[in-house]
Amino acid sequence: MNSIVFAEQTENGFKKSTYEAIAYASEITKTDNGFTIAVVIGKFDDAKISELAKYGADKVICLKNEKLNAFDIGVYTKLLSDVAVSENASLIVVSNTYSGKSIAPRLAAKLKSGIASGVISYPDTKNGFKVRRTVFSGKAFADIELKTAIKILAISPNSFELIANEKPVNSVTVEVNLNEMDFTTKSIEISRVTGKIALTEAEIVVSAGRGMKGPENWHLIESLATELGAATACSKPVADMHWRPHNEHVGQTGITIKPNLYIAIGISGAIQHLAGVSSSKVIVVINKDPEAPFFKAADYGIVGDAFEVLPKLIDAAKALKN
Ligand SMILES: Cc1cc2nc3c(=O)[nH]c(=O)nc-3n(C[C@H](O)[C@H](O)[C@H](O)COP(=O)(O)OP(=O)(O)OC[C@H]3O[C@@H](n4cnc5c(N)ncnc54)[C@H](O)[C@@H]3O)c2cc1C
Repeated sequence: MNSIVFAEQTENGFKKSTYEAIAYASEITKTDNGFTIAVVIGKFDDAKISELAKYGADKVICLKNEKLNAFDIGVYTKLLSDVAVSENASLIVVSNTYSGKSIAPRLAAKLKSGIASGVISYPDTKNGFKVRRTVFSGKAFADIELKTAIKILAISPNSFELIANEKPVNSVTVEVNLNEMDFTTKSIEISRVTGKIALTEAEIVVSAGRGMKGPENWHLIESLATELGAATACSKPVADMHWRPHNEHVGQTGITIKPNLYIAIGISGAIQHLAGVSSSKVIVVINKDPEAPFFKAADYGIVGDAFEVLPKLIDAAKALKN
């Protein structure tokens, strides 16, 4: 069984979730003497290609054309589907990120293949091909059997170990011919969040809610995040009131995250907020109300005023670093 993996990039190289997807695909294909092929689309940094081999890619196919530097769902889907066919791939693995989630169903329609998204297990191939995925915003699991010849899996970020599996790099770069007719949409402007740890990639997230009283107090959240090397997040009302940008809003209507450590400060723990963060490995809640519902979902809790607790936590984090 050969597999292909869509290698997603950030401005600084490949996403951690891409390495997870490659390591995941490689664990499956190697039991079958198959190849894991990473597909890089658009501009890339030559020096980073070896990282894909490090996590298990047997081959890296880089598809180049200036027009591919901006993500285009239609063209990216067509290119991945062409590679899947030419490489005789029976497994396609993407990360369950915004791009992965949008590409996977389109690929499935093109290749007439079965698909499972939000996958959190390796396939059970003893009797067919079954995987486990999360459903109802992470509150339940579903076991899915894929019966088609080609199978597509969108795996949940931060759910699988990164397995380094050093191999020599075997990469080919292909100049792709494209014309305007291939593009059904046109990107007019792309605004990226720069210089910050991406929320979906972060191992630690420091998040805050209405309990912080106003945006003028967010320097405390930023300081703690800086000391811990964490990304910052917020509850929905905080983003709605423009205290923080919407790309920090986590929950049912925001981003779903799964960091190793989620620190929630002045957030009540409404069910819609928990839907986006409850899969975090360790949850720490700081709230002055001992009855706040978030404490029920917490591994550790501090009942206290954020404005007294935070300066002490920041000092403790600083002391840890020194
Ligand atoms: C359809 C729908 C979708 C939604 N989607 C989302 C979503 O995706 N994400 C989301 O977050 N919400 C979502 N919500 C809103 C959600 O129901 C809650 O209203 C929201 O999460 C509450 O935000 P909060 O905890 O910041 O504010 P509050 O509920 O006002 O809670 C503030 C908390 O801060 C504590 N506090 C106050 N002062 C201090 C202090 N000095 N120190 C320590 N603690 C203090 C309080 O005890 C309280 O627990 C959604 C709602 C609906 C109806």
